[in-house]
Formats: sequence, C-alpha cells, structure tokens
Amino acid sequence: MPLANDETALRMRAIESLLIEKGLLTEEVVDRIASTYEHDIGPLRGARVVARAWTDPTFRARLLADGTAAMAELGVGGFVAEHVVVVANTPEVHNLVTCTLCSCYPWGVLGLPPSWYKSPEYRARAVREPRAVIAEFGVELPPATAIRVWDSSAEVRYLVLPQRPDGTDGLAEEELAALVTRDSMVGTGLAVAPGR
Ligand code: FE
Repeated sequence: MPLANDETALRMRAIESLLIEKGLLTEEVVDRIASTYEHDIGPLRGARVVARAWTDPTFRARLLADGTAAMAELGVGGFVAEHVVVVANTPEVHNLVTCTLCSCYPWGVLGLPPSWYKSPEYRARAVREPRAVIAEFGVELPPATAIRVWDSSAEVRYLVLPQRPDGTDGLAEEELAALVTRDSMVGTGLAVAPGR
C-alpha cells in the first residue's frame, strides 16, 4: 500500500498489527483491499462518470447537484468516496484539487493517488501558485480563465469534470471515456483531444 511517508507507514503497520491481533481484521482482508485499489479500481471509473456527464445533460445536472448519488447510479463510489463534490471546468473557471493537510483523494472514483499528489510541494504550491503548478503539468490556461482550488478533507473529496474536447461530437460514451485522464479529473490536466 503506497504511503505518504515513513512515519505514516509505521503507524499504519502498528494499527494493522493491532487489528489483526485483536481479531478484527485478517491479513488476507488487508491484502485484498490493497490489491483491489492497486489493480481493479482506477481512474477509468471516474472517466466513465465524466463521459456520461458529457453525453447526458440531466445526468450532468444530477452529478453537479449530488456527486455521490449520481455516481452511485453508475455503480461508482464506495470506500473513500462517500461524499464527493463534482466541480465543472468551463472556459471561465478551471478547478484544481489538492489536500493541504494530508492527501485526501477520492479513492473509490480515481483509485490510488499519484505520488505527486501526496508531496508537500504540490500540496503547498497548488494553493499558492496554482497556475504555475498546472503549467508544469503541461497545461497552459488562457490568462482570462480563473483557477479555483479545492482543499479536500476526510469528509469531502472533489472530482473535476473536465471540459469536453472539441471534435468529439460523433464519439460514443466509451470512446469519450478514453479521452479522460486521471490528471484531468484532479485539475492538473485536460481531457485529451481525439487523435492526440
Ligand atoms: Fe488529506
């Protein structure tokens, strides 16, 4: 299980040992959870949600009103995605997600967080200089586009709904989902235009 730092790793192992010792948890269960998030749950879940929102305006409206409930319609959510707020990018506003306190992330929608998301540099700079951070990920936003930064917590996690790329009118939902990168749902990237 990827961990923020050595101290966290140590604490995790201590808690895990205690729970196993008390008979509240077995090693098999811990391994299965870790493996599930490593192999079975990934950004494709979030991508399906985004593609549906691009093609179904009523779903999009429900998603923005109550992200958790709308995602549950697609069977997406669960552990560490109990309360997800979805924020939509527009030509006027670009959204960026971080967690200044630790590394809260919507696991049930995007899988395991990337290591940069957990780094102290990203967490501090996303708030202080979001435009520079986004540019370092290769995204040049128009100067007129405002950037809104969302600070995740244990209670609320955020998912960015990226803008639908141009030239995607004829695409099916599955093809659209393939254009939705993990980073585009955190705000450090954009959805990929077809053929790129
Ligand atoms: Fe956190």
